[in-house]
Amino acid sequence: THFGFEKVKESEKERKVHKVFENVALDYDVMNDAMSLGVHRLWKDYFMCQLSPTDNTKLLDVAGGTGDIAFRFLQYVKNGNYKNCHVTVCDINSNMLEVGKIRSERLKHQPETISWKEGNAEELPFNDNSFNAYTIAFGIRNCTHIDKVLEEAYRVLQPGGRFMCLEFSRLENSYTQWMYDQYSFQVIPVLGQLIAGQWKPYQYLVESIRQFPNQEDFKRMIEEAGFRQVSYENLTLGVVSIHSAFKL
Ligand code: SAM
Repeated sequence: THFGFEKVKESEKERKVHKVFENVALDYDVMNDAMSLGVHRLWKDYFMCQLSPTDNTKLLDVAGGTGDIAFRFLQYVKNGNYKNCHVTVCDINSNMLEVGKIRSERLKHQPETISWKEGNAEELPFNDNSFNAYTIAFGIRNCTHIDKVLEEAYRVLQPGGRFMCLEFSRLENSYTQWMYDQYSFQVIPVLGQLIAGQWKPYQYLVESIRQFPNQEDFKRMIEEAGFRQVSYENLTLGVVSIHSAFKL
């Protein structure tokens, strides 16, 4: 019938769209692995251990992209058999969210444990005091106004809620920083060209890492947004750092 035909066409289109998104995600994941030599997986695992969710954790993962942090959260909660937990993935780019949804279906997550919301970190589409945990991994660096992102994080967290950020940072030792800069500026754009066929975005990536405030300056900004007990920890000699804070 006509209806049946439409249906076949629709599912074929969906399949094609999914394919396009998948390729984007694939590029994204391959680049992450290539540039960090796979270490970004360990950083994200460790990040989730530091958050150590328990029963009733309502997490908002901002700039959540294709779900890397959210999926680790759900796995952690499942392993620990924690009850009544939920994660909301928020990202400004709906394509990334679409890829995330497909990945999530493949991983067979309980649909009621995860939701997806398009939105800007600087103007979150959520009510005040809606979550008790907030994460942002490799996302705040891309935002125009870091202070607005922090203000919004503070607003949507409940009193007692925790803020955690995983981001590229400054190396502890200036000589290693120099070597790292040589690697970043000379190798990463080349890898981008070879693997993803694009130079510019990866040059931008390296520059954005260099422009982001160092550990101490970022800590001060978090305090200025009203957070308390602000601390940070360097991973891999300071290539990335984890900042943690509470709304009290
Ligand atoms: N958190 C994920 C991870 O660790 O794999 C994704 C990180 S990815 C490098 C950066 C993400 O930030 C992208 O998905 C991008 O769409 C998102 N992003 C950039 N600016 C944003 C903004 N102002 N608000 C929300 N998301 C944003």
